[in-house]
Amino acid sequence: MSAAADDRDLGLNEGERGLLHGLAAFAQEAVAPLAAAGCGDQAWAGAQIREACRLGYAGIEIPADCGGLGLPYYMRARAAETLAATDFAFAFAFINQHNVALRIAEHGSAAARERYLPGLLAGDLVGGTAMSEPRAGSDFASISTLARPRDGGGFILDGEKAWVANAAGGELALVFAQTDAARGPAGIACFIVDLRAPQCERVTGAPLEGLGAAGIAGIRLNGYAAEDSDVLYPPGQGFQMALAGVNKARTHIAAMAAGLLDSALRQAVRHASTRQAFGRPIMEQQGLRWSLADVSMRLQILRMLTDRAAGLIDAGSDEAVPAAAMAKKYAGEECLDAISACVQVLGASGLLPAQGMARRLLAAKALCFADGTTEMMNERIAAGLAQRFAGGPRTIAAGAAIHREESMSYQALKLTRGEDGVTQARLAQIAEDELPEGEVLVEVEYSSLNYKDALAITGRSPVVRSFPMVPGIDFAGKVRLSADPRFKPGDAVLLNGWGLGETRWGGLAQAARVRADWLLPLPAGMDARQAMAIGTAGYTAMLCVMALERHNATPEAGPVLVTGANGGVGTVAIALLTGRGYTVTASTGRPQEADYLRGLGASGILDRSTLSAPGKPLQKEAWAAAVDCVGSHTLANVLAGMRYGAPVAACGLAQGMDLPATVAPFILRAVTLVGVDSVYAPMALRAEAWRRLAAELPRGMLEANTRELGLSEIAAAATPMLEGRIRGRIVVDVNR
Ligand code: NDP
Repeated sequence: MSAAADDRDLGLNEGERGLLHGLAAFAQEAVAPLAAAGCGDQAWAGAQIREACRLGYAGIEIPADCGGLGLPYYMRARAAETLAATDFAFAFAFINQHNVALRIAEHGSAAARERYLPGLLAGDLVGGTAMSEPRAGSDFASISTLARPRDGGGFILDGEKAWVANAAGGELALVFAQTDAARGPAGIACFIVDLRAPQCERVTGAPLEGLGAAGIAGIRLNGYAAEDSDVLYPPGQGFQMALAGVNKARTHIAAMAAGLLDSALRQAVRHASTRQAFGRPIMEQQGLRWSLADVSMRLQILRMLTDRAAGLIDAGSDEAVPAAAMAKKYAGEECLDAISACVQVLGASGLLPAQGMARRLLAAKALCFADGTTEMMNERIAAGLAQRFAGGPRTIAAGAAIHREESMSYQALKLTRGEDGVTQARLAQIAEDELPEGEVLVEVEYSSLNYKDALAITGRSPVVRSFPMVPGIDFAGKVRLSADPRFKPGDAVLLNGWGLGETRWGGLAQAARVRADWLLPLPAGMDARQAMAIGTAGYTAMLCVMALERHNATPEAGPVLVTGANGGVGTVAIALLTGRGYTVTASTGRPQEADYLRGLGASGILDRSTLSAPGKPLQKEAWAAAVDCVGSHTLANVLAGMRYGAPVAACGLAQGMDLPATVAPFILRAVTLVGVDSVYAPMALRAEAWRRLAAELPRGMLEANTRELGLSEIAAAATPMLEGRIRGRIVVDVNR
């Protein structure tokens, strides 16, 4: 009987039960022989990890469209428990491997997903996560591995990481590094590193006693070059994403502790039931029986705490933070003592290598500090106490406090995804406590509907990284509560991007709780509705104009082409460019809107079909600058038609993500392709873009170009937006 075969299986479907039983059988066959080695003799279990991958177990929580099984986190926690019942170190190594695959599936670039995921799922690549350093563990913000931007793109990494699972023989590591020490946690980024590169040295000493199978080693990076496509979390996200993953890591440790304890208890009970003393099985000695009863109860409590934390993680609840900390703390404090009680039952034979008890004792000690010490767990648990029991200050991850008034509930558009993989959008009431952590609670007045929101709401592309999700990549509103001195109740603010509506709850709700670092004061002379009429699309249009100007575009140089002209970005780009004196040609698939585009200032209209099919690598030199919202063949043709030295600002993918172009425009006409990203643009650039939008965008243009909808009408507008049937902007009055 395995650790998986308990009453909790009743809540699983047949496939899930089958998976856990298969995993237990695999562990017995392939991992148990490892566990028989002495504490110091175990080698890295690379071959067994690769075999488990080949059997499909590395894909448990990986989304189905990335080649995984798409199961909830709970199943991965159960898998960790099942494996740890045979060998804790193997379970630890394997969960690290799964974690690397999941982080890349959820957050890697398309190129990274293509390059690494198949190998990770098949076991050809094995990896671990590198957070700690020789001089930085729990104090993660103080890591000193440095990532410097490289001329021409990418980063150069230097520094040393410690205690990296699978680093003894694996091929990959997710390396957290500092890009700008002055920014502290906001400078931390994460990179996918190929450990086989010559600039990467493994620092292997004697294996940790009892944990040899996990292949824990250090890594020294000496000028390692990471491509942009290998940036897993850009600066500003690394710290937050590391913390976001920590609830799962802690819950895994607790689940593995339950597996450890389960196997120790079984062994002790088996021994006590057969071993005779004073003419009867020792199990009949009351003192010993009670001791095992106590272990059994502790195991049940540990499982209940672990299951609760896993359930809250799957529900996307903030309560997962203290719940995971409680499970981990309990595991750390109880497991060592409980296993020791099991060893007591076995007597001296309990220390024979074949019994595996010494290895379990060492593992039980290791889990007191892996993924956060017990002291750190106390901090996480204590952080929520005042809020919960005294209505007092709420301490958040960054250490700030929000002073609470009465707890409110808010209406929101909520996205869920069922077992069939279909995204459902519905209006729901969310409690203030459910909102993600952050220093500032904003009562949203207006949000807007953007192309990315439409993708999220329809589920047509994997924009949403975890469910349930409140979509909405931007909002404007008033601060209700703030724990940050830069904002006070009543301040008018706006926010674009930073993963809202993708990795954390966004603006299509009556309230949002966010990091203070992400908020901008509403520019003078602009109200919340106007800001959202401009929205992320208009702000991106301004980023495009600024990018062209940084690359020497001038009105005198010649005509500017705007593709996707009738869309949110396109319309604002036309108005901004013509307002600055440029001559603009609008490329559109809707010639019937030509008058409207001319009204915005466009002097020429181009049928988009002239750009959307494959074309020659070099064409007539027509454009002195271009804003492209469309990508794919359109962008390739735009590049081919640029004048010598002209810049193209690329921000969109309405036709496609691909770019079937040649290098000819770059090497023969010195054309510059400038990427524009609105989501993680630096704050200084954002502030400048919004200041200029307030000053330069004609207000009348916005009104004529904007439709207003209520929260309940948004879901129905998503598909028409993806089909290009919506002209201009949609603002959302979240209180309507
Ligand atoms: P909209 O949906 O409002 O507009 C997109 C426009 O692209 C449509 O109106 C249509 O214009 C054109 N279009 C649609 N489908 C096709 C197609 N198959 N082939 C050619 N043209 C097509 O989106 P937005 O203006 O809000 O965004 C434009 C693009 O920019 C999107 O891809 C979006 O994801 C991206 N974006 C990127 C940001 C960033 O940070 N980089 C931020 C904001 C948006 P017409 O009818 O005139 O042909």
